[in-house]
Amino acid sequence: MLGGLRNLVERVVIGDSVPALVRWGKPVPRSVIRGIQADGFRQVIRYATRHQEFFARRLREQGIDPRRVRRPEDLGEIFTTPEDLLSLPLEEFLCRPPQAVFETTGTSGGPKRVYFSYDELEFAGRYQAAALYENGVRPGDRVVCTFDAGYWISSWVTFLGCRQMGVFCSAVGKPHPRDTYDRLGRYGYNVIVGDPTWLVSLSEIAEKEGTFPVKLIFAAGDRMTDVYRSYVQDVWKAPVILGYGSTEMGGGLGMECRQREGIHIDEFNFLVEILDPDAEGYGELVVTTLSRRTMPLIRYRVRDVTRFIEESCGCGATLRRIARIRGRRDEMVVMGAGNMYPEIFENVLHDIEGISDNWQVGVRQEGTHDILEFRLELSDGINAAAVEASVERNLSTRYPDVWANRQCGMYRLEFRFLPAGTLAQGRKPRRLVDERGT
Ligand SMILES: [Zn+2]
Repeated sequence: MLGGLRNLVERVVIGDSVPALVRWGKPVPRSVIRGIQADGFRQVIRYATRHQEFFARRLREQGIDPRRVRRPEDLGEIFTTPEDLLSLPLEEFLCRPPQAVFETTGTSGGPKRVYFSYDELEFAGRYQAAALYENGVRPGDRVVCTFDAGYWISSWVTFLGCRQMGVFCSAVGKPHPRDTYDRLGRYGYNVIVGDPTWLVSLSEIAEKEGTFPVKLIFAAGDRMTDVYRSYVQDVWKAPVILGYGSTEMGGGLGMECRQREGIHIDEFNFLVEILDPDAEGYGELVVTTLSRRTMPLIRYRVRDVTRFIEESCGCGATLRRIARIRGRRDEMVVMGAGNMYPEIFENVLHDIEGISDNWQVGVRQEGTHDILEFRLELSDGINAAAVEASVERNLSTRYPDVWANRQCGMYRLEFRFLPAGTLAQGRKPRRLVDERGT
């Protein structure tokens, strides 16, 4: 690791203890965090200019003098994109010999690969430990971590975090929920870590066959809807805490606190921007890694959409929060109703009686008018008019802005009711589709 303000604070103020790191995270003023971020940003820019072929070339192409770069905005149009990682030789990003490699589960164009050193993994584990500790994990607890292992990083970082706190941890890859259920009693696990859908499957077993005393549940990975979260919490009578991260971010970018109102960002190690925010502040998340030196990522475009929560948090931590991820930028549809994401329609439809889980919302165009078309399967003979009224009620109360645009005639709302099974799709259904011509 290089020098810098953050490292100095770590050495002098915090030492090696995770509880000290957490205590320090409470009263630290915003000005100090901003200082650590500014210092870390300048350091990583200087380092990447010397050692990262990709970044040095981008600086030359854009005619930017790295000595004048103080803030991300000073880099103008220089970003690192997922497409860059996929299409260019990884040697162009690598700054020193690596000791480990991890991959993302690729949705398109194959997996993205990121290299690390052992130090960097230990370091990521330490901050993961701080997030777990903040949420109440203590020595004596028993953690079972069921994140997919293999080339996916989160399982390792969780294991290393527990190790640094001296907490019992089984990081076992992603077993069948039944296999984990059968071991909950035997090994006395009281902290469960897993993907949202996996946790739902485990909870379905526990709902039928009985639960065990569980103190906390951590979820990350694919998005956890409010419906999933409250179901899992109700079954186990334990809070579900959400984390957010990826292999590119070295595991975790941040985690909720016990208030469960937004994700505190690890601002000691990441500088976060929200690009092109809309009127509500939602824009694309852009992350610069401040601490990594094997393969730092400068202004990495995550493609997820969120916003900053500027109000201070009830937990007392001064680390800034981001809202739950609203969706992928490539899932966003800009139309008369506003910026639409699949999440909006999940929130409108999840508690409506009489429709199946298979649904889709299409954005069509007739003449110069946008149409938002709900395609729904009636499941139990409740009449279509009642469903339409419920959808309109939920939309108007839960998304008043979207509703107001309808009142202004910016778009029309239509319904199509289809026979059961018509809308069944694969494992990752496309909930929102833009069918307008270009
Ligand atoms: Zn908080």
